[in-house]
Amino acid sequence: MTAPNLGPLIVVAGPSGVGKSTLVEALLTTTTLPLRRAVTATTRAARPGERPGVDYHYWTADEFRRAIDAGRMLEHAVVHGADFYGTPWSEVRPYREAGTAVVLVIDVQGAENVRRLDPGGHRSVFVLPPCEAALEARLRGRGSEDEAKVQRRLRTAREELARAGEFDDRIVNDDLDEAVAALEAVVRGELERRRRQPRTIS
Ligand code: ADP
Ligand code: 5GP
Repeated sequence: MTAPNLGPLIVVAGPSGVGKSTLVEALLTTTTLPLRRAVTATTRAARPGERPGVDYHYWTADEFRRAIDAGRMLEHAVVHGADFYGTPWSEVRPYREAGTAVVLVIDVQGAENVRRLDPGGHRSVFVLPPCEAALEARLRGRGSEDEAKVQRRLRTAREELARAGEFDDRIVNDDLDEAVAALEAVVRGELERRRRQPRTIS
C-alpha cells in the first residue's frame, strides 16, 4: 500500500546573524513549492516587531520544561548559554504527513540533535557569511543585542563555522537572491527525490 510521500525535513543552521531567517522568509514569499517554516519555541523575550506564533512560540521556562517532559519536543537546546530553544513535534509531523516540506531554522547544536534522532531522514544546510566582518556587521546592524551579547554570539559563531563541513550543503549568504535560489534548489531536489520513492506502509 502506498501513502502520500512524507514531506522532506530541511534543517537550516548557521551562526546567529548570518541571515537564516531573512533567507528562509524570502524563499517562503517567492517559492511555489509546498514549504513551511516550523515555528519553534523559545524562552527569550520577543524582539520589537516579532509576533508570537509567527516568529516563535514564546514560552516560560516552566512551560518549556513541561513540553520536554511530556515528549512534545523533537529537539531542544540551550543557546548562547542563556535561553531554551526547541522544535515542537506539532510544528513538523502534521505538515510532513501532508507532503509539505518543513524547514527548521535552528542552531548548530539543534542540527546535531536532529542528525542524531534523524526523524525519517532530513537534509541539512549550513548558511555561511561571506566573511567574519560581514557577520559582525549584520549582528550589530540588527540592533537587537547589547555589546556583551554580540561578543558572545561572535565567539559561538567561530566555533560553529568550523563545523560547516558536517552539513549536506553549504550556502554563502552574500547576495540574498542567489542564496534564496540555492536554498530553493535544495528543497526542490528533496521534494523530487521523495516523489520518485513513494512511501510504503505494510
Ligand atoms: P539569523 O536568522 O541567522 O540570526 P537574520 O535573518 O536575523 O539572521 O539576519 C541578521 C541581519 O542580517 C538582519 O539585519 C538582516 O537584514 C541582515 N541580512 C540577512 N541577509 C543579508 C544579506 N544577504 N546581505 C546583507 N544583510 C543581510
Ligand atoms: P535568535 O535568538 O537570534 O532568534 O536565535 C538564536 C539561535 O537559536 C539561532 O541560531 C536560531 O536559529 C536558534 N534556534 C531557533 N529556534 C531553535 C530551535 O527550535 N532549536 C534550536 N536548537 N535552535 C533554535
